[in-house]
Amino acid sequence: MNTTRNNASYWNPEVETLSRTALEQLQRERLLETLRRAAQAPFYRNSLGPEPWRRIHSLDDIRRLPVTTKDDLRAAYPYGFLCVPKDRLIRLHVSSGTTGQATAVFYTQKDVDAWADLMARCLYMTGARPGDVFQNLSGYGLFTGGLGFHYGAERLGLLTIPAGAGNSKRQIQLMRDFSTTVMHIIPSYALRLMDVMAEMGVDPKRDLHLRIAYLGAEPYSEEVRRRVEAFYGVSVFNSYGLSEMNGPGVAFECAYQNGLHIWEDAYLVEVLDPKTLEPVPEGTLGELVLTTLSREGMPLIRYRTKDLTRILPGDCPCGRVHRRLDRIQGRSDDMFILKGVNIFPIQVEQVLMGIPEVGNNYRIVLDRHDNVDVMTVEVEVTDKIFVEDMRQLQRLQKKITKELKSELLVTPEVRLVEPHGLPRNEGKAVRLMDRRNPYGA
Ligand code: ADP
Ligand code: ZN
Repeated sequence: MNTTRNNASYWNPEVETLSRTALEQLQRERLLETLRRAAQAPFYRNSLGPEPWRRIHSLDDIRRLPVTTKDDLRAAYPYGFLCVPKDRLIRLHVSSGTTGQATAVFYTQKDVDAWADLMARCLYMTGARPGDVFQNLSGYGLFTGGLGFHYGAERLGLLTIPAGAGNSKRQIQLMRDFSTTVMHIIPSYALRLMDVMAEMGVDPKRDLHLRIAYLGAEPYSEEVRRRVEAFYGVSVFNSYGLSEMNGPGVAFECAYQNGLHIWEDAYLVEVLDPKTLEPVPEGTLGELVLTTLSREGMPLIRYRTKDLTRILPGDCPCGRVHRRLDRIQGRSDDMFILKGVNIFPIQVEQVLMGIPEVGNNYRIVLDRHDNVDVMTVEVEVTDKIFVEDMRQLQRLQKKITKELKSELLVTPEVRLVEPHGLPRNEGKAVRLMDRRNPYGA
């Protein structure tokens, strides 16, 4: 890894390294301002009651206000959350709709500028600098990962290639022709592109100039980070965001790669027990609930992200005051229950990607046979092991079963699949297929 780490410098030192007290003072001011603005939106006029800012004396008073859910956004689609006249809007994005009907998010000029600045802060923090060539392998269009990163990279002064997702051969050609040093790519595509490169005989460490990769937009494990770092010869930084909060740039890893700094000058953070909506103690897993502090067109108050994470205790050696989130474990909706045990797909991934003979794709299929739930984990193996004899494959299958059982506490069926044997998705990966019929077959 050859990332130049310049820990002493910040994109915006005033807001990155101010004291906790000063940060909280800033948050309080911005929260009051946000509430005044939010009161212009038809939805909030109704739900927050008159003059909601009068109920806020300290930041903890935010708990006196109701939460906002994705269903609220859907019900008020398209304009119910809008706080400015339509002629002040310059952009709209629509969430990719991974979990149901899409929701729209609106931006004024000031919102787009502030978002670009936050993104530039993220990229700068990881060591990207003018002179770097940035290839954005994220889908453009309504998905915020494309334009979000694009504007941030331009703001920072990187030579920005809006490559978009897919067309792997051309991606590799661009990387070669323009000596790409920094890339943004969703984790499942990073894994798929590894296979394409291997097939074409491209060794990125020998043939390319990559040094930094931003991976986000979907959950992935530490094991995937390690695979991607080892194959491409890059440092991988975790990138978290959601359309409702602008898009990417909400929380991002610094050079220490030890959790994601959430930008608390722009977002007020709560981590709540998803059942009781009471705050959980620092360090405990809960649902991330965010309030925008600087959005103009469409502020959101106490938005339930459904993403499960925890606040990491302690200060970061980089000197930033903004607290760190642990890797997002997944959405509360991703969790499935098998024989009474709660399981997240990422637990399966963590086991699989730690086994070197396992290839870069897998799928979990849940089914019901004779009223018994069955989980099958379909696992692509590497080319190398595929040509080995049956006994080797059987040994691998046993090993995977054993390790999954010890992680999940239920025993899955494991089906080994030839390399490239499983279907691939454009966009975010679909790792779980639940074919169980709740009414019995
Ligand atoms: P959709 O909700 O339709 O997928 P978005 O593109 O807004 O639309 O997706 C945001 C969601 O993607 C987040 O709420 C989170 O569940 C997931 N996500 C984004 N970044 C990460 C990340 N770094 N790790 C895990 N999950 C992520
Ligand atoms: Zn840090």
